[in-house]
Amino acid sequence: MDSLVDRFSRRIDYLRLAVTDRCNLRCIYCMPPEGVPHLDHGEILTYEEIIRFLKVAVRAGISKVRLTGGEPLVRRDVERLVAEISSLRPSLDLSLTTNGTLLASRAEQLASAGLKRVNVSIDSLDPDTYRHLTRGGDLNAVLDGVEAALEAGLHPVKINVVTLKHLNEEVEGFLDLVDRLPVYVRFIEYMSPCGAMDSSYFVSNAEIQARLMRREELQEAEPPPGAGPAKYYRFPGAKGLLGFISPVSSHFCPECNRLRLTADGKMKPCLFSREEVDIKGILRGGKGDEEILDAILCALERKPSDHGGVLSFTRRTMSQIGG
Ligand code: SAM
Ligand code: SF4
Repeated sequence: MDSLVDRFSRRIDYLRLAVTDRCNLRCIYCMPPEGVPHLDHGEILTYEEIIRFLKVAVRAGISKVRLTGGEPLVRRDVERLVAEISSLRPSLDLSLTTNGTLLASRAEQLASAGLKRVNVSIDSLDPDTYRHLTRGGDLNAVLDGVEAALEAGLHPVKINVVTLKHLNEEVEGFLDLVDRLPVYVRFIEYMSPCGAMDSSYFVSNAEIQARLMRREELQEAEPPPGAGPAKYYRFPGAKGLLGFISPVSSHFCPECNRLRLTADGKMKPCLFSREEVDIKGILRGGKGDEEILDAILCALERKPSDHGGVLSFTRRTMSQIGG
């Protein structure tokens, strides 16, 4: 078997793998101020367990793996995991989503270990707003991380911006960033998870785009490889691109190609569904590759056609699922 196709004929080749539920920030749209209770270390999949699972998943048809969390760079020696995943199949599209706070000193090692590219979350280019949104984050450290990622060749560097009404709608600063650096800035519509903020903070990407177009003429751009659900635009002279990911105002479920594995080894067929398939139980229950494959197929079977209009989750926060 080398391809995974679900009941709705979607080819599923992308796995988002949360390597930890811990984080060194407390973004206001992701977590309550006190954070979320941490899983015990014994609950988290070991690197050996992750590799064992991935061997089967990659053979079955997963060709893109994204490490996420929590904050993946707070898990000890994540470079070792990157190197081991990369050696499973060097052509794997291996990427990582990070808040960037620890990236400046790690980008080079991550690239050497086999990481291909990186997504960095930066919700404002104003240091005070950034600190407020992340409950204490240092914007300069993150911007140093972006520069280090570019220097290390982790292309394309994508910047994720979750927009929130009245809090960080002043997004024009990102036009200057894209003008100056070859990065892809993507505006992401806020989805209201449990324990964080309510949906009154939602601002549509149509509003964000209109705001940007008052200053620059945006022209539709060819989506870069691995663009996922984003729509891309460029403006004259800019080194980078602007993208819009609109999970709330537009429906990209028909193109969904993802499965998710949580840090405690549960496979989620859809970000919003309550369904989970217990991979850890199989890995720790002395079962073989056949059973691991069956569990992946079981998650595939349970993948819904769409989220049925439900855009909030009731069991886990984003940091526990991996976004
Ligand atoms: N800590 C890393 C980071 O912040 O990039 C990786 C994990 S984070 C859960 C993954 C992505 O989910 C980030 O880009 C973050 O902005 C996004 N995210 C978290 N909560 C969200 C929400 N309520 N709505 C939309 N995106 C969200
Ligand atoms: Fe941490 Fe990422 Fe959630 Fe922010 S979005 S609290 S950085 S996991």
